Amino acid sequence: MIEKYKIDKTNLSSPFRGLGGKAGGSILLDERQLQVSVAGANERTIDCNKASLAGSVSQRACVFCGSRVVLYPISDALHLIHGPIGCAAYTWDIRGSLSSGPELHRLSFSTDLQERDVIFGGETKLYNAALELIEAHKPKAAFIYSTCIVGVIGDDVERACRMLEEKMGIPVIAVEAPGFQGSKKDGYKVACESIFKLVGRVNNPIPAKSINILGDFNLAGELWILLEYYKKMGVHVNATITGDGRVEAISNAHNAALNVVQCSGSMNYLAKLMKDTYNIPSMRVSYFGIEDMSDALYDVARFFKDDDMMDKARELVKEEISRMMPALAWYKERLTGKKAAIYVGGAFKAISLVKALRLIGVQSVIVGSQTGTPEDYELIKKLCDEGTIIVDDSNPVELSHFVKEKQADIFIGGVKERPIAHKIGLGFCDHNHERKEPLAGYEGMINFAKEIYATAMSPVWKFTKTTPSP
Ligand code: SF4
Repeated sequence: MIEKYKIDKTNLSSPFRGLGGKAGGSILLDERQLQVSVAGANERTIDCNKASLAGSVSQRACVFCGSRVVLYPISDALHLIHGPIGCAAYTWDIRGSLSSGPELHRLSFSTDLQERDVIFGGETKLYNAALELIEAHKPKAAFIYSTCIVGVIGDDVERACRMLEEKMGIPVIAVEAPGFQGSKKDGYKVACESIFKLVGRVNNPIPAKSINILGDFNLAGELWILLEYYKKMGVHVNATITGDGRVEAISNAHNAALNVVQCSGSMNYLAKLMKDTYNIPSMRVSYFGIEDMSDALYDVARFFKDDDMMDKARELVKEEISRMMPALAWYKERLTGKKAAIYVGGAFKAISLVKALRLIGVQSVIVGSQTGTPEDYELIKKLCDEGTIIVDDSNPVELSHFVKEKQADIFIGGVKERPIAHKIGLGFCDHNHERKEPLAGYEGMINFAKEIYATAMSPVWKFTKTTPSP
């Protein structure tokens, strides 16, 4: 199977010429051969869950970025990045999580470490900066992020946080996330540990049928759509972690009956910590596509063993589906036969996307993720049509090649995949941090169909398709 990606260098079209640099000119580095599979072609489990290969130019981001994107939607907390100003580029603009109240999370603060701090240490600068910011903004908690250079020079961020917490009387949490320690996924774990340091600090009474929503970041207000569904079912949502998140609700999260985990890649670890310490069960859901959205509601009603709640969920699903089906049929009629390439952070989202695309007649020809597990990839393999390329922790060269080979009409991914699509003259749908339209829930499914239609069918792509140079 993998042999088919061994390209004869003499025949290379310009984007791939000279890449690989080995006999045969393969676009796949030898060590990555087992991280690619083709549905229906073999029974082998894809090799995944491992560090990125040096030189492969992985699409994964650093540990600090992973911790930052998970934590910073907590909107009444102060987020201070201890490091050079460049690290602070991960701002609200990169993941536009909305807040229904305070918006402190939209401000990006950095200690802006300079050469002098690197030589003599940056702890005092950090302490003074944090003190000034806490006094000025009166946050409910503060997260202090360590970046690569802090890991190298060895500033004691924990000690600074302890001193600040004592002096200011709010939780001040050290997020030990030097970028070089691993990849974005390791940053998720650091974020979970940091959130867990807040949990259990208050004990406010809440209704018995309460859940925490883990792993929704309220992009384009998606969380608010979900809250409405749960409200209609009679489910109380206690803490939203971390979209539209508040320090007090998170501190009270241990009192909920259930953790409902969407972005499992980022939040499974927090659910595990809460299960181990507070015995709170969790369930994995997805809010993308009709099927998964409906299952998410039914599963919660099933958990509470509440017939009335289940009836309300059924009624809601019935109403929403009958409202949206005519619109989806319209898109399906026009999109049938189109092919999509999917490359996203978490594999669970990829699974939902495959199902959602099928609903509007679009075939997924490439499905990949940065952080999938063997179980995720097995599920993808079963779900996808024969011949679909399945890839773990891919890179721009592989993705460009796969997309061209499978003649995809649209690429669905995140901020780092957008230039890949546009460089090869392909329509792109942002299904990640930057999106401005909600794509979750029933309403989101209609928006998704609309976006796929507008992008895949746009006449502009026939003018931008790159022609291989001679
Ligand atoms: S890799 Fe290091 S220097 Fe780069 S953004 Fe991440 S923490 Fe900052």
